[in-house]
Amino acid sequence: MSSRRNNIISSVREQIPALSQKMSGKPLIYLDNAATTQKPRQVLDFLSDTFVWRNANVHRAMYELSDRSTEAYEDARETVRSFLNAPFRENVIFTSGTTASINLVAYSFCKKFVGKGDVIVIEADSHHSNIVPWQLAAERVGAMVRVLPTDVLTGSGRSGALDLESLDSLLTPEVRILALTQISNITGLNNPVGKIIAAAHAKGIPVLVDGAQGIVHSKVDVRKMDCDFYAFSAHKIYGATGVGVLYGKKEYLEAMPPYMGGGDMVETVTYQKTTYAPLPLKFEAGTPNFTGAAALKPAIEFAQWLATGETAQALKQEEEDIKSFMTDYLTSDRGIELYGTPSSSARGVGLDVKAPIFTFNIKSINAGDLAQLLDKMGVAVRSGLMCAEPLLNSFGATSALRASFAPYNTLEEAKIFTECLERARAMLF
Ligand code: PMP
Repeated sequence: MSSRRNNIISSVREQIPALSQKMSGKPLIYLDNAATTQKPRQVLDFLSDTFVWRNANVHRAMYELSDRSTEAYEDARETVRSFLNAPFRENVIFTSGTTASINLVAYSFCKKFVGKGDVIVIEADSHHSNIVPWQLAAERVGAMVRVLPTDVLTGSGRSGALDLESLDSLLTPEVRILALTQISNITGLNNPVGKIIAAAHAKGIPVLVDGAQGIVHSKVDVRKMDCDFYAFSAHKIYGATGVGVLYGKKEYLEAMPPYMGGGDMVETVTYQKTTYAPLPLKFEAGTPNFTGAAALKPAIEFAQWLATGETAQALKQEEEDIKSFMTDYLTSDRGIELYGTPSSSARGVGLDVKAPIFTFNIKSINAGDLAQLLDKMGVAVRSGLMCAEPLLNSFGATSALRASFAPYNTLEEAKIFTECLERARAMLF
């Protein structure tokens, strides 16, 4: 690796204090970024400053401290709007996370637009939070949930990619909404959302995109993507926990009834009847996480810095090296099964459609045992079902190990991880 690239990556890592700590006396190698990312100093400082200098409830008071708080909250909304290239601030709703954003749409959209006998289409590679809310909504309104399969489910391959050939026949006239996943938290595969959205729109079907992983690993432009809804969580993109975003087209958000009732989402209230505040507040009942939401501004600025100029180039090259190294390691050993290979036929082909998320099993070894041993070596990886039980089951797995890399991870860390994995494997074999 060039020393220039090395220096750039070091300067990024220096911004993130958590990365320099030790676990079990070893330098931490944090590879659970698909679950949550570590925070840069600018977000930590901003949060701390917010609690000291801008801590007052938003939108409600006539004093300066509340004005400052409201300004920071609405500034973050503008940052999100511009980051997503959404046309208006009214398109951006603050929620508590991707899960809450999807639940909001599943409740309100289905209440207004979905009825008995209608169909909701979801994807087989979805996280539970893009499955269960739709099942709940379908139950409420008497609709059915249909699943767009992967090649594993149709028996046409083992890559874990969606079987797009099934799409046309699934999108029948009863379909009211299609819920997509941009990048799977298991396979890391980048789904062709643009193509799927165009196919759905050709039949008048609106589309929600779960961008929980996509927001980190791709440049998102909601107008170009032409999705009708887009959901993501702040904590996966260097921001605070308990904050999420729902982008929605105004035509839908305006027609949809509120999801929750309470303060701030009303215009006038009598004991008999309430009229609702205009967007976006109609969907922001109660005191929002105004401190966390405001911190989306420095978090997004950090993400933008990572995606700009020389820094972006260095991180991209490092990521390509990590992906090649990890894919080679995980596919050249017959004792390892990797879930989500870009191409079912040729190893290493099409890595451009895979984010650096690697979920796998080592034959005859329990993933949880491996994760525990790795922890003793300073390596943090996830094991279990990763909230995608149907997808993992479709691969024939009941649990797995997942190493998910962020732009601040290094090839060196990937190498140490695989060495530690081999040691753990030898201990358990
Ligand atoms: N969708 C995907 C693809 C995810 O990876 C996650 C988090 N693992 C979620 C949804 C849910 O995100 P949150 O828990 O932040 O609401």
